[in-house]
Amino acid sequence: MPGMKRALFLMLGGVQFRNIGGPNFDKTQWASEKELEQLQNRLLQRLITHAYSNVPFWRRTMRERGLTPEDIKNTKDLEKLPMVDKEMMRDNPQFIAKNSWRYFPHRIYSGGSTGRAFGYLITPLVTYCGREYMERGFSWAGWERKDRIATLTGGGLGVGDLMLDCVSMSDKVMGGYVKRIREGNISFYRGVPTALATFAEYVKKEGLDMKKKAVFTTSEMLFPTHRKLINEVLGTCFDGYGASDGGSSAYECDRHQGWHIAKDRFILELTKGEELVPVGDEGIVTCTDLYNYAMPFIRYRSNDLAVASDMLCECGRSLPLLSRIKGRTTDVIRTDSTVFNGTELANHILGLELPMVAFQIVQKSRDELRINVHKKEQWGSEHEKMIMDAILRYDPALVIEFEYVEKIAKTPAGKSRYVVGS
Ligand SMILES: [Zn+2]
Repeated sequence: MPGMKRALFLMLGGVQFRNIGGPNFDKTQWASEKELEQLQNRLLQRLITHAYSNVPFWRRTMRERGLTPEDIKNTKDLEKLPMVDKEMMRDNPQFIAKNSWRYFPHRIYSGGSTGRAFGYLITPLVTYCGREYMERGFSWAGWERKDRIATLTGGGLGVGDLMLDCVSMSDKVMGGYVKRIREGNISFYRGVPTALATFAEYVKKEGLDMKKKAVFTTSEMLFPTHRKLINEVLGTCFDGYGASDGGSSAYECDRHQGWHIAKDRFILELTKGEELVPVGDEGIVTCTDLYNYAMPFIRYRSNDLAVASDMLCECGRSLPLLSRIKGRTTDVIRTDSTVFNGTELANHILGLELPMVAFQIVQKSRDELRINVHKKEQWGSEHEKMIMDAILRYDPALVIEFEYVEKIAKTPAGKSRYVVGS
């Protein structure tokens, strides 16, 4: 989103936030457990009342179950409602509030790891909250507004003072980044872990000193080996987890004892089947976003797994901790001249909005890729060319072939993946 539009969006978000009686996030990070629960319950009741009055799916579901908004007073009561997921909500107007226009919604797409984009509505209020939480997370690493951040992203992470494209990172490209970071008065890095690790590897190989105050990793799972490398070469990792679909947010503080769950933004349930899992067990991250009124996400099952902890963090915040998060992982494609970040490359192709149901990139060898496409009727050779151009721009020597399939094969674990390494 361009700067001007974003500023307007955030201003509008601030107004909507005050209208619903949103809290002061600087203060709520220090609120007691009880205060946080009261806040969640108040915002939950507000959301449920709205969903019952305005969202066809939730109105019908609650009526069928003989429920009224008075029956959902706290997080425990949420169990009276069914869980939903991407597949149910995709292209389904039943989940959109009849009065969504009042919240100035706009549609965004999340790539995720399933090979199909998921379009949903967010509002300035959702964007505003996401920004506030992110900045609160940054502040835990000592960031202040005057500090400049270099962001390594394929475009999904819209925030940073210096944006560096991580779709494809050759040594030559990274040499250019070193120069721009040095000239850019940068004190923090931010980006997807695989891209930061690729950059750290390069910096280490070249023997350069590029260490900054801290590194904000986000949007995919941070592996211990990557964390170690990034800590050593670029700065201490402060990992963050979050998504706009479902409003989940969890950030590490400077004690690194886990990820603090933003109880003041969303309600987290860890589930398996229809049940909640006990503390210490792995469960599916299931979220209720307290701030999306255009398309309420209530008991929304994500694709991520996490483990909750009952330990209190030494920092003194009552925001509870996750001890482990198993989020999106990225497959990296190494060709003779560059390193592609699989997810970012896939998101880049998704952004072309081509007439296809799904696609997958398969690495056949160091210089050969195959693109499996489950096409729609409108598909033509010009669309093949658009994908070719998008990839060859980064590595003109690659050989690319297309295969048209009826279905994108899943991995043995039953997961769909955009990118399959050789
Ligand atoms: Zn802490």
